[in-house]
Amino acid sequence: MNIIWVRSIVSVVLLAVLCAGVGAFFGIKAALILAVIVLLAQGFFSTFHKQQLWRLLDAPVYGEVPSAPGVWGEIYYRLHKLAKRWHAQVRQVEQQHSRFIQAIQASPNGVAMLDDHDQIEWCNAIAEVHFGLDAKRDLRQHITHLVRQPEFVRYLNSQQYDEMLIMRGMGEKRQNVLSVQVFPYGENRKLVLSQDITELERTDSMRRDFVANVSHELKTPLTVLSGFLETMRELPLSESERARYLDMMEQQASRMRHIVTDLLVLAKLEGEAKPPGDRVVDMSAVLRHVRDDASTLSEDRHRITYDIDEGLTVKGAETEILSALGNLVMNAIRYTPDGGKVHVNWHREGNSAVFSVTDSGLGIPAADIPRLTERFYRVDRSRSRDTGGTGLGLAIVKHVLQRHDAQLEVKSEEGRGSKFTVRFPAARTARCQTTAA
Ligand code: ADP
Repeated sequence: MNIIWVRSIVSVVLLAVLCAGVGAFFGIKAALILAVIVLLAQGFFSTFHKQQLWRLLDAPVYGEVPSAPGVWGEIYYRLHKLAKRWHAQVRQVEQQHSRFIQAIQASPNGVAMLDDHDQIEWCNAIAEVHFGLDAKRDLRQHITHLVRQPEFVRYLNSQQYDEMLIMRGMGEKRQNVLSVQVFPYGENRKLVLSQDITELERTDSMRRDFVANVSHELKTPLTVLSGFLETMRELPLSESERARYLDMMEQQASRMRHIVTDLLVLAKLEGEAKPPGDRVVDMSAVLRHVRDDASTLSEDRHRITYDIDEGLTVKGAETEILSALGNLVMNAIRYTPDGGKVHVNWHREGNSAVFSVTDSGLGIPAADIPRLTERFYRVDRSRSRDTGGTGLGLAIVKHVLQRHDAQLEVKSEEGRGSKFTVRFPAARTARCQTTAA
């Protein structure tokens, strides 16, 4: 038998015994009065605790247990234990829920949850940005009232979600590209995942442009070569004509060889780890090399001057530094008409090492300057070709400098000349170790 029943029976028996005792001594009237008083007190006591119990059930107070004698004390104690356990469980579920929300918020992808009527139940901050939503304001709104792009509406209504949808012209500036996919779950609910693939698309289109450019660059000399071959096979040529054609064919072949060599250099630069920051370059050897190549290319057609700090050098890959600085000097000569001036300067500026080439050549229009380091970008196609350019030289320079944490600065005025400056940071700058002769 339950303890509450035992206690109730004992109370009734005690009251009966008490009333019987009082009745025996003071008469039946006194016993009845006592019984009424005890029952009234009991009723009052029960009503008070019942009300307290309702209050507790309506708004449980986890910290304190109301004190009461007997059965009520027991009820309060057990109720308190129950409420505490329930409270701990609720807190655990709340914590799990908040961790789950934090994890989805941290996702780099947009996540939106739709109910069975395609109304927004919840979405993370990235989805807000992707679709221009407001998680609070747009709650319970039908998603197609907010994301109105016809392709999205069609995709959502199609119920075919095996493939993802590509949405262009998204974002605040309508310049972003999103890949969107719907995943049905639960009872007719949907999860909408979105990813910003603008950068991916950009690299993909750059890759396509690059392949098209390479093909075009190689196709031109190849076409010329095939033309010469055909002429040589079909026309009776004199010995001198034959020699001239062979020279021209040699030129085209060498142009293709240069393009392929530069492409391989670029691929190597992109694929390799940064050059070590502790290997000191033999700068005097590099500058000697540059000087020899410059005078070979110029053939005394230009006045080339040098202002060199012999004790200054950099740390990095010697062949790369030679290729970058050499490219700048060769460009200055190639794009400066005969009789023009080229000045090469290598000096310290504060903690940086600075290499600059100034020429009195053709100069570059301001609009072209930001694009000079793009692959195959040329200000003047025919001139670049005439001077044996591949259009890859400054792209190589840019990569080499990036790998050495250096900056390229271009100043130019059309018709008056250009100045290309390379600034190596303090961490890449070193003093030459003088070796005894
Ligand atoms: P290219 O092989 O055509 O010279 P680069 O990448 O070295 O290719 O240079 C890109 C373009 O920048 C050149 O086609 C040329 O028009 C321009 N350029 C580079 N250096 C100079 C310079 N010193 N003076 C004028 N134009 C230059």
